[in-house]
Amino acid sequence: MLLPQNPNAFTRYPLDRAGHHRRDTAWIEAALTSPAARIVPFAQHRPLVIEENAAISIGWLGSQALAALRPIVVLFLGLDDAQAPHFAAHVTEVSALEGLGSFDDLRALGPRLAPADLATLGPAKSVFEWHARHSFCANCGGPSVIAEAGWKRACPTCKAEHFPRVDPVCIMLPVHGDQCLLGRQRAWPRGMHSALAGFIEPGEAIEEAVARETLEEVGLRVREVVLHSTQPWPFPHSLMIGAIAHVENVAERIDPHELESARWFSRADARALIEGRFTGAFCPPPFAIAHQLLKTWVGE
Ligand SMILES: [Zn+2]
Repeated sequence: MLLPQNPNAFTRYPLDRAGHHRRDTAWIEAALTSPAARIVPFAQHRPLVIEENAAISIGWLGSQALAALRPIVVLFLGLDDAQAPHFAAHVTEVSALEGLGSFDDLRALGPRLAPADLATLGPAKSVFEWHARHSFCANCGGPSVIAEAGWKRACPTCKAEHFPRVDPVCIMLPVHGDQCLLGRQRAWPRGMHSALAGFIEPGEAIEEAVARETLEEVGLRVREVVLHSTQPWPFPHSLMIGAIAHVENVAERIDPHELESARWFSRADARALIEGRFTGAFCPPPFAIAHQLLKTWVGE
């Protein structure tokens, strides 16, 4: 499904997820061993990528390469336009791939990979992270097993089913007149400033979470929330929900446990930030939703 209005990296998944095949073990097995199969291995949550002529792309393998890699989890990603089945495999043995490419950190790769490749790898990264932390049934404590082509875990003991989790996070740009507020966390690279963010809690509407987090982190009262766009963010399995938060006051009071500092920027300053020409500060790159929030506000 194409959503052209969404500007964010990790969206516009290029494959048909073809979820109806996931329960058909025989179909999945045949697809996995077919000559048309394309499989991207992940090792320690890093995908295999190849670099050719300074361009980086996914290191797709054929089915014959999979057996030597001792996969722990094989995830059915879907079908391309030619109906070729695509998979991702979390593997432990990578020596057979020596010289074929490198396993690189997805966050570092983000700005360099084509949007379609980034969107393809995102769900595999999230699902593999989830499997790695959910080997045991949350209901009875017994070991659970992988089911439905990697999209589920099932407990043979108590029959509970467990599905990959998605953690909703609100990320907001507080604005007042011609100014917006960006914060910075102590752990970030020197000079980096970004939108505020926090997990949405049970029982909260997104707008309520935006208002609560903004008040908690910087002491600003939100009078209006305008939802902007959303972004799957596979670090490890968040869904970022971007918003512009119109605030009533400008006297910020930061929570030192959350932020090191916060600073108001004019529209001209914010434009310089996203264009990388602001002295002494910078913002996240275009593949982060925070950048897109700023860009939208600057263009208003
Ligand atoms: Zn159980």
